[in-house]
Amino acid sequence: MVTRTFWGHSVSDDVCDLCQRPALEPIYKPERSTRGLTVHLCGVCGLLQSLPRIDRATRAPAAVSGGADWGNVRYGKGFRTQIAVDALNRYTDFGSDFTLLDVGSNRGSFARSFLHRAPNAHLVAVEPDERVAASVAGMPRTQLIQERIENVALETRRFDAIHSCHTIEHLIHPAHTLADHHRALRDGGILVLDAPNTALLASDDIVEEWFIDKHLYHFSERTLTRMIEAAGFTILERPDPKDKSNLFFACKKNGHKPVNGGLDLLEVEYAQDLIAAYSANRARNLMALTSVASELLRLAPRRVAVWGAGRLFDSLVTYGKLPTGALTLLIDKHLKAHVTERHGFALTGPESLAEANPGVVVVMSRDFASEIAAEVNRLTPGAEVILYSDLMSRARRIAA
Ligand SMILES: [Zn+2]
Repeated sequence: MVTRTFWGHSVSDDVCDLCQRPALEPIYKPERSTRGLTVHLCGVCGLLQSLPRIDRATRAPAAVSGGADWGNVRYGKGFRTQIAVDALNRYTDFGSDFTLLDVGSNRGSFARSFLHRAPNAHLVAVEPDERVAASVAGMPRTQLIQERIENVALETRRFDAIHSCHTIEHLIHPAHTLADHHRALRDGGILVLDAPNTALLASDDIVEEWFIDKHLYHFSERTLTRMIEAAGFTILERPDPKDKSNLFFACKKNGHKPVNGGLDLLEVEYAQDLIAAYSANRARNLMALTSVASELLRLAPRRVAVWGAGRLFDSLVTYGKLPTGALTLLIDKHLKAHVTERHGFALTGPESLAEANPGVVVVMSRDFASEIAAEVNRLTPGAEVILYSDLMSRARRIAA
């Protein structure tokens, strides 16, 4: 990668996708990156972005890892369907015969729900991965385009609404694609946009590598707001401040773009602090995982089930060195559809709980911890439920 000097710093040759300045400085090297990515911070506007901008990942098998190589499982978007369909329903008429563009249709969770709720609507679904696009093929009132959105020539003012869920962070030039969405919408058309939230980096209990290989851009509410507004949209709904994992926006096409110089030194400082806190927290937490594993080993005679076989579990085995043979059950009702085992232990569904009758169920999830705990209480009322966040805070106290 070519570098040059900007404001006295050595920066990359690429320009920032938000403010268009050549002010990208390397700030973080993700762990276990198979694409050789480095996270850069724009010293002008504060947008975090990974370089080099590789447009197509090699088609790797499903990797349920806590490292940067996590990916190709592709089930997370389904959890975001309801919030997107509900928001669209607030700003469009689900009874009319309108046309919606679904960017990154994935396995069709949104498409199915939307077509069901809007009985006269038409859908154009864009999904490059043929392995998942097959789920959308053959749906009624649907045209499937199997291609990256950046390579699709959309008709001007064709769409009444656009839905883009956890896709923008994968794009080479998201600012350009947002401007193209604006062009493809009719006047007053609606854009519903959802992306990962860098706020999660500040989590006390983070152990997984957040900067995964599939993501080239890493947005805060502030940087994504600016990119949306620079493309000519008015924001109707902002992200829920309690949701540290997602940035959900509902926006409307308007006729003018704000004059945007791009300079945001507060955001630059915020991003620097965030990366520093993330690196320090994560290093401390990875060490604490050995104490978490020891606690689970002590509990093993009571028969321990773990619910959640994703990134937190992978980190517990990889860094905490938990011997999976100490477990009685490993439950994950979503991952079970994509992989059969994790670290040599077979995955099962929640239905196995009653028969296995564990004394302890450990919930290895952050976003769905309370839902899972409630389900455990229902399925096996005698078992003690222990949450990952509690295990981790105990382990950190021991380490301190
Ligand atoms: Zn910038």
